[in-house]
Amino acid sequence: MDNSNLKANLAESSSRRDHRQIGQELDLFSFHEVAPGAVFWHPKGWKIYLTLQNFIRELLAKEGYTEISTPVMTKSQLFKTSGHWDHYKENMFSLDVESESYSLKPMNCPESALIFSNTIRSYHDLPIRYSDFGTLHRNELSGVLGGLFRVRQFTIDDAHIYVRPDQIQEEIQNLLKLVVEFYKIFDFKPEFFLSTKPDKAMGDEKLWGQAEEALKTALNNSKVEYGVKEKDGAFYGPKIDIHIKDSQKRDWQLATIQLDFQIPEKMGLKYIAEDGKGKRPVIIHRAITGSLERFIGILTEHYQGAFPLWLAPVQVTILPITDNQKEHAEKLASELAGAGIKVEVNSRSETLQAKIRTATLQKVPYLGIIGEKEVAGGNLMSIRDKKGDSKTMELSKFQSVLKKEIEQKF
Ligand SMILES: [Zn+2]
Repeated sequence: MDNSNLKANLAESSSRRDHRQIGQELDLFSFHEVAPGAVFWHPKGWKIYLTLQNFIRELLAKEGYTEISTPVMTKSQLFKTSGHWDHYKENMFSLDVESESYSLKPMNCPESALIFSNTIRSYHDLPIRYSDFGTLHRNELSGVLGGLFRVRQFTIDDAHIYVRPDQIQEEIQNLLKLVVEFYKIFDFKPEFFLSTKPDKAMGDEKLWGQAEEALKTALNNSKVEYGVKEKDGAFYGPKIDIHIKDSQKRDWQLATIQLDFQIPEKMGLKYIAEDGKGKRPVIIHRAITGSLERFIGILTEHYQGAFPLWLAPVQVTILPITDNQKEHAEKLASELAGAGIKVEVNSRSETLQAKIRTATLQKVPYLGIIGEKEVAGGNLMSIRDKKGDSKTMELSKFQSVLKKEIEQKF
């Protein structure tokens, strides 16, 4: 996470309705003294989280990823072996268990590597793509914690891809395509930056050259414009940083595609090459959204709480005009719920006007109003969309309108 970028965005957002305020109004999440920097997701916020996470899962399944899950706490020794301890121990939470040092994982890589090395791998098994939504902990001073943007406990849409050096370019090209397609859904415009070999680089000179060439070719073939950050790569490999601009023109670095020659070395990873010899794979660490918590914070502000239908925690609120339509409203709601629509019925004894106002403030995309006329007409509802336009529709027709809009994600 780039700190100066984060600070500027936090300062700039202070004059606007920020995600903490919106989160409170829409009852999405809260923070409590007892767990600084850790999110309490309320039912509606958790629905957004799961919808996003499951969408990423579906995308990745199509791209040949398999998902793994690894322990939150391991012996600190693992991070000493992987090389993280030397650079990262200040940010790690460690504790003694039976007089041995354990740590809460700050990243998923070393454990993912243990799964890779648990089996003998051959050159034709690669690439192996492990996705991972592991819970991570990183120690941030309580003074710098800021809503969903800066937390101590979070989840990245993480993945580690184990490739042969000759597979780097194609894999990166596929990743760039995936990133561009993913961001388009949210109307985020990505900007790409290639970070090259720093002076204090580790690893084989030839491999660095080959990897940087592969990244450049992948960027060129993807026909994306990119800037070069000379010597700004990590000491363990070159990387591509991807920034986006949100609806408020703020700049965020979300995605990174990071090559790593060091962990394979430190953790002794290998595959059997065509000539029968053991060779080191290269690891590609990559995330598209980065921290899901932060991404949801950005989306909350980007949409100012009016999430598109596919992400909205309540997609339809059904409003019976009087108690006489209550039962019918419940029946139609359970049919919609059965079709996977997130639906609520507001049958409180309030005027229709008050109910419409509540649902509008809650940014519910569709309202289905049911009066005597609609009940008499069978499965009819008077549908009101977020622009305030109304039309009467048969339930099955409404259902297919919803399905289509959810599918298209606009
Ligand atoms: Zn990693």
